[in-house]
Amino acid sequence: MKFTLATIATLATSVAAFSPSSFVQTTPVAHRAAADSALCMKYKVAVVGGGPSGACAAEIFAQEKGIDTVLFERKMDNAKPCGGAIPLCMVGEFNMPESVVDRKVRKMNLISPTGVEVNIGDTLQPDEYIGMCRREIMDKFLRDRAIEYGAEAVNGLVTSIDVPVDHKTTDKPYTINYQEYVDGSSAGVAKSMEVDYIVGADGANSRVAKAMDAGQYNFAIAFQERIKIPDEKMTFYEEMAEMYVGDDVSPDFYGWVFPKYDHVGVGTGTVVNRPAIKQYQKAIRDRAGDKIAGGKIIKVEAHPIPEHYRPRRVQGRIALVGDAAGYVTKCSGEGIYFAAKSGRMAAEEIVALMKGGSRLPTQAEVEKTYLKKYDGLYGPTYTVLDILQKVFYTNNGAREAFVELCNSKYVQQVTFDSYLYKRVQGNNPLDDVKLLGETIGCLVKGYSTAKPDAEFSNPVESLKRI
Ligand SMILES: Cc1cc2nc3c(=O)[nH]c(=O)nc-3n(C[C@H](O)[C@H](O)[C@H](O)COP(=O)(O)OP(=O)(O)OC[C@H]3O[C@@H](n4cnc5c(N)ncnc54)[C@H](O)[C@@H]3O)c2cc1C
Repeated sequence: MKFTLATIATLATSVAAFSPSSFVQTTPVAHRAAADSALCMKYKVAVVGGGPSGACAAEIFAQEKGIDTVLFERKMDNAKPCGGAIPLCMVGEFNMPESVVDRKVRKMNLISPTGVEVNIGDTLQPDEYIGMCRREIMDKFLRDRAIEYGAEAVNGLVTSIDVPVDHKTTDKPYTINYQEYVDGSSAGVAKSMEVDYIVGADGANSRVAKAMDAGQYNFAIAFQERIKIPDEKMTFYEEMAEMYVGDDVSPDFYGWVFPKYDHVGVGTGTVVNRPAIKQYQKAIRDRAGDKIAGGKIIKVEAHPIPEHYRPRRVQGRIALVGDAAGYVTKCSGEGIYFAAKSGRMAAEEIVALMKGGSRLPTQAEVEKTYLKKYDGLYGPTYTVLDILQKVFYTNNGAREAFVELCNSKYVQQVTFDSYLYKRVQGNNPLDDVKLLGETIGCLVKGYSTAKPDAEFSNPVESLKRI
C-alpha cells in the first residue's frame, strides 16, 4: 500500500489503517517530525532482529525520546545456535549481570591432530575468565533491557521490505511487511508498518540485507550438539573448554567442547567442505571420546557463520550490524561481542546524526561515522585473524605447529589479552622476535612430522571460498 506525502499527513492521526484490497493491516506513518512538529510526530526507527546486535542497537535508540523505536523479533525465546563464549570485557561494557554467564572458563585445552595437548590459562588472573552463556538467556536479558528503555517489541517475522527506488535521495518511508505472532500463536497475522530508518540485525540469513541489495558473503556452516553428560564427567568441564584441530574435525576450522549450564556444547564448522559437516561432527564426538561418553544429546543445531563483511553495509537509510553485516572473526569464529558492539556503535552514531529526532541521516553520514569508526577499531583484528586462520588451520603440519606454539606463555598472554579485552596490550618487541623464530621452527617441525590431510573432492564448495 503506497501513500503520497499528502495522504501520509492526513492519515497521521489514525492509529491504524486497513486495506480491504490486500487484507493487510498497516500502521501508517505518524511520525514526520520535521513535517508536522505540531502533532509531535516522531521519526520511527525499526531494528529487525532481537539478538545481541539488535538488542544493543534498540536500547540506544529507545533512550532517545525524540525517536520511536520498534524492535522486531520473530522468536522471543530464540536459542541461537552458538557456542556462547564471550570475552570478559563484554560483561562490564554491556553492564550484564554475572547471572547471564553460566560458566567461567579459566582453562583451555588445545588438542593437535596427533593428540598433543596444551593447556592454556596459567597466565590468567584469578578474576579473569571466558564467559560461557546460553544464548536464550543472554539474548533475552539484552532484549528485555531495550524494551524497558522504551523500545516497542513486535513479536513478528519480517518477510519483506518495500524500499522506495529513490530512498537514497528522499525521506520516503520504508514499508516493513511482517507476520505478527500475537500471544505466542504460531499462526501469524500479516501486517505492515512504515518506518524512516532500518537497522538490519537479523543475522546471517538477513532479509534486510536482501531488501537493501547489500550483496552476498561467503559463509561457514557450524554444527553443534548440546550433550548432557553424567555429573562426574561434567566436573572435568567445570572451568574447562576444549579446542580440537585436525582435518578429521574440520579442514579449515576447529572443533570444540564448551561447558554450558548443565551440559556441554560439542561442535565444529567448515567453509570448504560443508556437505561433510556431519562427518566432522562425528569426529569431534569421537575425539572427545570418554570425556563425553554416556552423554545424551538434548539439542542439535546448525547455522551459517559469515566469513567476511557484506559488500554494502549501509544503503540509503538502512544499516546492517552484527552477523547481517558479516562481523565474525576468522580463526576464533567469534561474533557475539562484535554484534553487540556494532549494534551499539551504529545506533549511537545514527542517534547523534538525528539530532534529537529532528532529521534523518544520509547514507554518506552513516558511512563516515559508524562504518569508519567500526572499521578503524576492528578492521586490523579481522585481517590478523584471517591471516592466522590461513597459516595455521589449513593443514595438519601447521595445526601441530599452532598447538606447540600455544605452549609459550607469551603467546598465551597476548592471545588472552586481545581476546578478553579486545585490545592488544603493549607487546614486548624482543619477545615478538623470539616468537617469530619459534613460529618458523614449529612450522618446520610440524610439516615434517604431521600426517597429510585427507583429500576430499568438493570442487563446487571449494571454489566458493573467497
Ligand atoms: C554453531 C555456532 C557457534 C558459535 N559460537 C560462538 C561463540 O562461542 N562465541 C561467539 O562470540 N560467537 C559464536 N558464534 C557466532 C555468533 O552466534 C553470532 O556472531 C552472533 O549470534 C551474531 O549476533 P546477531 O545479533 O548479529 O545475530 P543473531 O544472533 O543471529 O540474531 C538475529 C536475531 O534476529 C532474529 N531474526 C532473524 N530473521 C528475522 C526476521 N526476518 N524477522 C524478525 N526477526 C528475525 C532471530 O530470531 C535472532 O534472534 C557461533 C555461531 C554458530 C552458528
